Amino acid sequence: MNSVHTLMTNQQSLTQLTETIYCVAIPVPFRRLKVVNCYLIQDHDEWSIIDTGANIPQAQSIWQTALEQLQIQPTAIRQIILTHIHPDHFGLAGWLQQYATEAPVLVSPYATAFAEIIWRDGRTDYGDVENFWLKTGLDDGMQARWDAGMAEMRQIVLPYPTHIKPLTPNSMLTIGRYDFQIIDTPGHSDGHVILYDQQTKLVLVGDQVLPKITPNIGQWPGTLPNPLGRYLNSLHELKRVEVNLALPGHGPIISNWSERITEIEQHHAERLAHMKEAVSMPATAYQVSRHAFDYKTLDQYEIQFAVSETLAHLEYMVSQHEIQRHNNGVWRYERRET
Ligand SMILES: [Zn+2]
Repeated sequence: MNSVHTLMTNQQSLTQLTETIYCVAIPVPFRRLKVVNCYLIQDHDEWSIIDTGANIPQAQSIWQTALEQLQIQPTAIRQIILTHIHPDHFGLAGWLQQYATEAPVLVSPYATAFAEIIWRDGRTDYGDVENFWLKTGLDDGMQARWDAGMAEMRQIVLPYPTHIKPLTPNSMLTIGRYDFQIIDTPGHSDGHVILYDQQTKLVLVGDQVLPKITPNIGQWPGTLPNPLGRYLNSLHELKRVEVNLALPGHGPIISNWSERITEIEQHHAERLAHMKEAVSMPATAYQVSRHAFDYKTLDQYEIQFAVSETLAHLEYMVSQHEIQRHNNGVWRYERRET
């Protein structure tokens, strides 16, 4: 690998990572995340973009500067690849596609189907949204807040791309010297994929494995069952993949791949043990989340994350027969006596 050097020193937005891969750090409008790492890969006179940022003016201007800096003409952009459909990764895909004179946007088939419902059509009738928050034990007003929050998110992911091509798990995608294997990596977001090059052992890992924070694993309205179980299985498989350099969606590059995965596994083991303690008496996901998170530091939006993450852990323990769920409209969890 070549030495890492920064092309723009003022905001350090554009960084060359290898001979043909650049990272563009795009600011995101979320309190706890400063930037999302997007990547540009050069293949002779063509470029591929991996992940895009949310559609806010500051993000557009960083992209414009980066593209100018590297002298990338709109017609030189071959494709826009998305690891998953969260707003900070998906949001500028449509805008960049307009710039890139209709280059295709590549998304996994499952993620595309869900993005069409929530982002393109703005529908809220997916999954069990209606009763979802009531089941978690959050109060009645949650439904309206959820709808308002999703409408707000939708504003930063439009325009919706006009031309989407499937990025199919287990297929190969060659970009320059890299022959990327597309690997399905569930847990953080349904339909999340990563791009792995076996020869250089380089992986574009999206939000599946992050260096500084643990990826949010939440059960949300519309999420497939047992996201934490699927995530831990995915980590178990990824740990066996030989990786020299992982380029994550947030934070610095990861060079201690298997150690970092072990740390994330340990984090979840601790969380699970803590939450199991909290259900010696029947408790809702909301009640357990108040034990597991410091509510004094959370705003209304972050409380949704705390509850959804707690729910994922509780449902995982139900799947492992460690705790049981009582359902009478509200879900209450209780430890099984052994
Ligand atoms: Zn994400």
